[in-house]
Amino acid sequence: MNLKMARGLAMAGIFAAGGAMASLGAPVALAQTEAQPIHVAVDATNAGQKILHTHLEIPVQPGPLTLYYPEWIPGEHMPDGPIIQMAGLKFSGAGKSIPWRRDLVEMFSIHLDVPKDVNALEVDFDFLLSAVGSGFSAGASATASLDVLSWNQVLLYPKGALAKDIYFSPSLKLPAGWKFGTALPVTSQEGDTISFETVPLTELVDSPVISGRYYRAIKLTPGEPVSHEIDIAADSAAALEMTADTQASLHNLVAEAQLLFGVHHYRGYHFLLTLSDDVAHFGLEHHESSDDRTSERSLIDDAQRIEFAGLLPHEYVHSWNGKYRRPAGLATPDYQVPMKDDLLWVYEGLTEYLGSVLTARSELLTSQQAREALALLVAQYEHRPGRDWRPLQDTADAAPFLYDSTADWANWRRGTDFYEEGELLWLDVDSTLRMITNDKKSIDDFCKIFHGGDTGKPELKTYNFEDVVAALNQVAPYDWTGFLRARLDGVATKTPEESLTNSGWRLEYDDQPNLMQEIEEGGRGAYLISIGLLVASDGSVVDVTHDGPAYKAGIGPGMKIVAVNGAQYSADGIREAIESAKNGTEPITIITSNGARFETRSIDYHGGEKYPHIVRDESHPDYLSEIYRGKTVQAAN
Ligand SMILES: [Zn+2]
Repeated sequence: MNLKMARGLAMAGIFAAGGAMASLGAPVALAQTEAQPIHVAVDATNAGQKILHTHLEIPVQPGPLTLYYPEWIPGEHMPDGPIIQMAGLKFSGAGKSIPWRRDLVEMFSIHLDVPKDVNALEVDFDFLLSAVGSGFSAGASATASLDVLSWNQVLLYPKGALAKDIYFSPSLKLPAGWKFGTALPVTSQEGDTISFETVPLTELVDSPVISGRYYRAIKLTPGEPVSHEIDIAADSAAALEMTADTQASLHNLVAEAQLLFGVHHYRGYHFLLTLSDDVAHFGLEHHESSDDRTSERSLIDDAQRIEFAGLLPHEYVHSWNGKYRRPAGLATPDYQVPMKDDLLWVYEGLTEYLGSVLTARSELLTSQQAREALALLVAQYEHRPGRDWRPLQDTADAAPFLYDSTADWANWRRGTDFYEEGELLWLDVDSTLRMITNDKKSIDDFCKIFHGGDTGKPELKTYNFEDVVAALNQVAPYDWTGFLRARLDGVATKTPEESLTNSGWRLEYDDQPNLMQEIEEGGRGAYLISIGLLVASDGSVVDVTHDGPAYKAGIGPGMKIVAVNGAQYSADGIREAIESAKNGTEPITIITSNGARFETRSIDYHGGEKYPHIVRDESHPDYLSEIYRGKTVQAAN
């Protein structure tokens, strides 16, 4: 998409000229200028009651008008704008109500006819926050003590101009006494109502606001010219108590990222951290902030802190890789044009890799923890039968529906594997760069070329596959097209194993639990690497490895394991059964319920539990230790 199109063209209504409305000879809506912006006033005082009220004033001309509700949400890579959460929609002008109708094909479009003498359209609707706890920004976003506002959920915008050319003047009313954090520049605050600068729609959608009763802002680079701050809203005061170690690691994260990329593309940066067990858990990147949502005790509970360690580095990397450099197919002119996801293995895969690298370099994880996480990742991808039929490339191409795919049969269907297998692919790129240059060049050099440019303010520079290859060749000439296409388009590729070998390590299994595995599994029992089962804490079968031992015994997702070797199901019991079958010939006997029917099944498996770890492979140089070593901190491990 061409985002460099002159603002004048949009103002002249060029983009509306092709529509049926224009063919009637009727005037089109004005593009909203900086001098005549759309006013959006959001009332979040009832956020705890799970409802937001929004009021818009849109400068218009009489005649047919089409308004859009944002459909394709940046960073979410799919058409998941939460239109179903809109209620109470009403339009009026000059004191009279105006009827509306939805488009039958473009269902995020609302058509109405602006009466004569109306030049300001008043729009009111409620955004229903009663969403489930899973998903992305449309998932649960408010509790009794906090709220995360995504502006795309509370506005409509007129068809006919580029999103970057439509200006909004936003304001937000918070519950009494709540504090807030955002990258959006504030102009004034009166009581609990905050007025923000007039900004283009693109900047508004890129600038969520977190707010809460229990709130804390911490400067991560005090005394330095560019502000980096973490703004935390939590469900309790106790959850805000970040340890000095974590704060030091976040300071390191900023320093390591500056060293990696050389420049930055923001005026200042806000990590907007929401700590709650009652909101959706995910991260969403923006140019100058990230919307990071995790469990309430993530800063104060050791296991939760380890589980959460990689979230902020990943989202922070996106400021460079995803926001500044973005695949052309993802840089759409507005929120209605479909996105093309084929380069998500760069957008997300490289971010996942660099996020893991910075997590280790900043010491948010120790190098030992980082190695255990990598061991688990490689082991999981070596036991993923869906890799035998679906190429990695297709996990990106199909991302708009794979994001919504469920855990049952995930090993056979595959999911958004361009994140995790993408991490392994980029580790292989990094090791290969080091190998062919005798360790003189690395992915760090690639980042300086690919993500470099002018420092200081948000910009967008699009790319395609050839641009990635060209930047790699600039670091070290090689058949990068062949290297990448083989790993992207092939099936059953050796990427997991090779990425490890080329970085100087190899995978080994033993009976000592992997440090990261228990944390990742939560209360679930994961036996995907041994008998091929993933079981919820109550014995419900979440997933079964296609063609593995449990699959061959007839077990499928949705069944419930009632008993193991004659005893009632427990996670310990199934582990012990796997261990005792190791030295015998008797199968493991399992009773399952499948709806109303009980069945006895035999799993003929004698390999014991298998916990993955990585060990040094002396036949290759140890690049991994170099990759994980922080350069701005005194390494303690
Ligand atoms: Zn991401």
